[in-house]
Amino acid sequence: MRHRIAVVGGGPGGLTFARVLHRHGHPVAVLERDPAPEARPPGGTLDLHEGLGQLALDKAGLLAEFQALSRPEGQAMRILDAAGTVLRDWRPAPDERANPEIDRGQLRDLLLGSLDVRWGRAVTRVVPVPGEGVLVHFADGRPETFDLVVGADGAWSRVRPAVSPVTPQYTGVTSVETSLDDVDIRHPDLARLIGDGSVSVYGVNRSLVAQRNSGGHVKVYARLRAPLDWHAHLDLTDVEATRSGLLALFDGWAAPVRDLLGHGTAFAHRPVYVLPGSHTWAHVRGVTLLGDAAHLMPPLGAGANLAMLDGAELAEAIAADPENLDEAVRAFEEQMWARAASWSRITTAGLERLVSPDPAEALALFDQVQPS
Ligand SMILES: Cc1cc2nc3c(=O)[nH]c(=O)nc-3n(C[C@H](O)[C@H](O)[C@H](O)COP(=O)(O)OP(=O)(O)OC[C@H]3O[C@@H](n4cnc5c(N)ncnc54)[C@H](O)[C@@H]3O)c2cc1C
Repeated sequence: MRHRIAVVGGGPGGLTFARVLHRHGHPVAVLERDPAPEARPPGGTLDLHEGLGQLALDKAGLLAEFQALSRPEGQAMRILDAAGTVLRDWRPAPDERANPEIDRGQLRDLLLGSLDVRWGRAVTRVVPVPGEGVLVHFADGRPETFDLVVGADGAWSRVRPAVSPVTPQYTGVTSVETSLDDVDIRHPDLARLIGDGSVSVYGVNRSLVAQRNSGGHVKVYARLRAPLDWHAHLDLTDVEATRSGLLALFDGWAAPVRDLLGHGTAFAHRPVYVLPGSHTWAHVRGVTLLGDAAHLMPPLGAGANLAMLDGAELAEAIAADPENLDEAVRAFEEQMWARAASWSRITTAGLERLVSPDPAEALALFDQVQPS
């Protein structure tokens, strides 16, 4: 029997789900809000862990292609204090493959392959109709009915309300993102400071992180503990004003470090929101969630990995026992909740230490997770 299965969202979680299900011979409709793959900038680089994102890619049959594309050297991490003193300078061994980096656009294209995504299909809500299936409503176009709708539509999921009333809450930590292009040619001093991977600088309740993507592109993140409206007097579309406002927040930091903020031509405000670490829901036949939609947590290198493994495992569970779709989904949910709760604890505690009144906490955390 063929089930009508839809996944809402073509991010890392949704695409991995679709790709693995496809590999097992099951059709799936991928419903994505963006009108095309390149419709918006894909965001910064991702490190995929051996037991999480890489395992998911293996389940999708894409591990060898990932290994050819990824940047193991991007695992390098340098830590400075606000005075610019190098405190740690960790470089991976040549054969280190635990967490190589890949650009999000490259990962998306790898997962997309020959998948048939329905672009420009923004879902507005899903409504389970007992005995008939689940009705999916779109911003435009007629509703469609499926036997299973998987919400892989990220932090502000439109599928989530069908199973849970919970919404993301602000952590008290916000972030402003900017970027540098052609760093090796246009900003060679900064290129040296950043190295092959990332440089992180920790101060009191603030940090600056610059991370290399491929092709000399660098993402710079300024993180700070602040109320959500901290920028009320700042027009973030005014580049000059934003740059000076940010530099004022990092007043007294070493000039080469402040220079990371000095060349951005666009700034994006990204407050850090999370779902409760214990987020679960009473099972609803025909609807489930995965990835950020289910367990949004601080951006400390786990979210995409977890979303991908969720997607791969749900697809495998369905493929292993297609006659018992609902049982497969129930079992998947239990497994996902347990793993997500554990990572939520780790990343929440991590965020507390990385943006902390005591910068030594960040260094201690680094030494704990990355002993040299
Ligand atoms: C600065 C930063 C750095 C990070 N670094 C890392 C890292 O190194 N490693 C890591 O593992 N994680 C990292 N993360 C976390 C990671 O980005 C997320 O956890 C991950 O993208 C979640 O994947 P997802 O597929 O669940 O959701 P998303 O990536 O959010 O994808 C959701 C998709 O759904 C689509 N969508 C949304 N609403 C609708 C709708 N109504 N209808 C149809 N489609 C819709 C969106 O367009 C999108 O394509 C980072 C996050 C940030 C902010």
